[in-house]
Amino acid sequence: MKLTIQAGIVGLTQRKKELLDREYSNLQRFLRGDKAVPLYSANKQQALRYYKKVKLKEYPLSLRNDLINLRKAKAFWFLKIPVYGVRGGIKVPVKTHREFPQGKLCESKIVKRKDRYIAMLTFEFPAPPMRECSSILAIDLGERFAATAVLWQNGTVMKTLFLGREIRGVRRHYAWLRRRLQERGLTQVVKKVGRKERRVVDAILHRISKRIVSLAFASSSCIVLGDLTGIRQRANGKGKRFNRIVSNMPFYHLTKMVEYKAMLVGIPVITTSESYTSQTCHVCGCEGKRKTQGLFLCPHCGEYNADLNGAVNIAKKFERWLGYMPLHGAACEPALNQPMLEAPSERMG
Ligand SMILES: [Zn+2]
Repeated sequence: MKLTIQAGIVGLTQRKKELLDREYSNLQRFLRGDKAVPLYSANKQQALRYYKKVKLKEYPLSLRNDLINLRKAKAFWFLKIPVYGVRGGIKVPVKTHREFPQGKLCESKIVKRKDRYIAMLTFEFPAPPMRECSSILAIDLGERFAATAVLWQNGTVMKTLFLGREIRGVRRHYAWLRRRLQERGLTQVVKKVGRKERRVVDAILHRISKRIVSLAFASSSCIVLGDLTGIRQRANGKGKRFNRIVSNMPFYHLTKMVEYKAMLVGIPVITTSESYTSQTCHVCGCEGKRKTQGLFLCPHCGEYNADLNGAVNIAKKFERWLGYMPLHGAACEPALNQPMLEAPSERMG
């Protein structure tokens, strides 16, 4: 299994910056047909190997498998980048918010964004075996809470987590801010603010997904996620405003984060259509409705927290499958649990 981690190349000395700039821009020139340009031979080879049809854009510097070297010295990680004219290449400090996985570093890339260089480091390591699961952690994705998690064990709710309530507020704040900036014609600032919003939301999503995966790990659960088609169906007929909010919610990103974090520790993740879960009463199975956004009303049993009701329904829907799962080995169809090859973007400071 492979995992790609972004790491910012930071604190370059003037000389290393110049050498990297030269190698990178010479690569672009080489790709546009300037074959005489000074470029490290292996970097040339890599370029010829990967970029057969060159269009008018920039290409990352591809680091060959056997030349890659990442070493820790004191508190810093250093990546070796082969450049023309410097024996052994240059060693540059890289910074990431995550731990690098234990595994073999493979062919990786250096991309340039604005004036910064980012190393896309790809690690290869054996996938951990799928863990046995004896309970279900059901996740209902929603607007009020980005995720409502219900730990379902032996037919009862053992624990409930309401996660990501702050996302809606963050999004509202930035929407307001963007509107104000737009009114004043500050388009560049609007873009900048948009990127800032993504970073803020991403940080929250990382926290939520981490919480979900560690609860699943501690309780030997598999994770069942309501899938996105369900949410879109649910959103239909509720007006434009609601539709807009739902289609902008970072459900997809959260789903991917949960999937890859779970995969790293061998927790099966299943997505299930939750198209009817918001209309069904989790106690009697009757059809009910959402009285307000937060309340579900069953004609027989009364009122429940709507998000909790949704999550329990997801757990119940999947429960009957749990009995069919083998005690050892894969707990679900591999096709249902495809590994994600690339980690959702990791932001740098
Ligand atoms: Zn009921």
